[in-house]
Amino acid sequence: KLYGDRRRNAAGVDLSQTSVRERLKQAVAAFDTGTRIAAGPIISGKARSGPLTDVLDPARHDRVIGTVVEADAAMIDEAYAAAKAAQKDWDRRGGPARAEILRAMADILEDNTDRLIALMAREAGKTLNDGVAEVREAVDFCRYYAAEAEAKFATMDRLPGPAGETNHLGMHGRGVFVCVSPWNFPLAIFTGQVAAALAAGNTVLAKPAEQTSLIAFETVQLFFKAGLPVDVLHLLTGPGSSVGSMLTSDDRVAGAAFTGSTETARRINRSLAATNGAIPVLIAETGGMNGMFVDTSALKEQVIDDAILSAFGSAGQRCSALRVLFLPEDTADDFIEGISGAMDELALGDPADAFTDVGPIIDVAARETLDQHMARMREHAKVIKQVDPGEYREQGSFFGPALIELPSLDLLDGEKFGPILHVIRYKRKDMAKMAQQLADKGYGLTLGIHTRVAAFQSAVMGCVPAGNVYVNRNMTGAVVGVQPFGGEGLSGTGPKAGGPHYLARFAAERVVTVNI
Ligand code: GLU
Repeated sequence: KLYGDRRRNAAGVDLSQTSVRERLKQAVAAFDTGTRIAAGPIISGKARSGPLTDVLDPARHDRVIGTVVEADAAMIDEAYAAAKAAQKDWDRRGGPARAEILRAMADILEDNTDRLIALMAREAGKTLNDGVAEVREAVDFCRYYAAEAEAKFATMDRLPGPAGETNHLGMHGRGVFVCVSPWNFPLAIFTGQVAAALAAGNTVLAKPAEQTSLIAFETVQLFFKAGLPVDVLHLLTGPGSSVGSMLTSDDRVAGAAFTGSTETARRINRSLAATNGAIPVLIAETGGMNGMFVDTSALKEQVIDDAILSAFGSAGQRCSALRVLFLPEDTADDFIEGISGAMDELALGDPADAFTDVGPIIDVAARETLDQHMARMREHAKVIKQVDPGEYREQGSFFGPALIELPSLDLLDGEKFGPILHVIRYKRKDMAKMAQQLADKGYGLTLGIHTRVAAFQSAVMGCVPAGNVYVNRNMTGAVVGVQPFGGEGLSGTGPKAGGPHYLARFAAERVVTVNI
């Protein structure tokens, strides 16, 4: 059965056109020549003031692109009160009315494509390519959840029952939802979580990653421009340790949507569990230790291309990214040589340059954990190559993509969130053992398989849990409605974002039985 066959994904802009690149150049130049965004909490439509923290460009630490104000306890209290008071009304509007606002938001996002891409390049170090994909994804989320709201939150479904009785099932919002979004998809995931929670009839307190407050601040204003009532969405900027934990420990929370590390998801889960209001739900999308299994029937050039894109695209800062490549020992040397050669071609540098492949790591602290991992690997594994970032390393938080051969998977202690690809050679007879070792790590996000042999594909899939399996292609860049995204185990709770089951988790159900 084909689900959602009448839907279209956003077209995006075409970077191969000089005119488009020129336009984006100007949008970026506006930030480089003085546009500063003063971001902070927005409660009931009003931006709040307070002590300012500078927001730096991760690619050039001497460039300040804006300032941010941290939300305090009083602001959080005020936002909760306003969101709670507004929720019933918002819910009663019904799916079609909410869908209309989300569709308007999608159009407004498209109208603001250039500025959003430029801001993502400067605040999040996103390459233009990634920026294009991200605006498209945000637009898709809005339209997809709008369609879902219309289909599932408009009327109640009639259920079968005995004569003399009618039974109807409907869904409605749970209450106030907290949306905690990551810096690696500062527009798409921020917008997606908020749009889903709103579509299902909740009001929202949004807590974006502190590294990307400016994009969130701009996005919330676009929601209001689209017609969203100001009491329905509130923005609470600041760190997770203070703002995030206050938000998720309030008795008024009905649920939380979170994307980020497994460790933080656990913390949020505990915090929600300790509240004394309605029992809150958690929708978490967390880390991965994603493997790609290659057999001897795989096409070498394709494997090299897909491994490079999956491991080093977005500077490896995707939870879907390839972390461990399993190569059969007969062809491993050849494939490793190819990957290492392709790494020499990667252009590292200014993310706003249309030809850059690898931009910076989000901040110095994140780079530090990658440096530490490299130091450990130099001692215990074989570092085949690490690209030298040259002067970029000092200018910003750049990190050279690295290729490491591991003697065993035991050496990998958790997700390494950056452009580091580990390779393991395996003997044909040990394939199942290798797959089991990966499965034992407990994650279950993405899985790549390169083979022309159906039995190999099913053997790997039978061993390794994964929410998204990609066969004979790259394993990042899930498309809304096409590859609903999310994992299991240490990788998240599900349901999948951009899929047909997502909104149900944001909703409560009601069955009405009438004896006639
Ligand atoms: N949905 C993204 C992808 O398919 C990854 C999301 C994330 O990194 O959180 O690449």
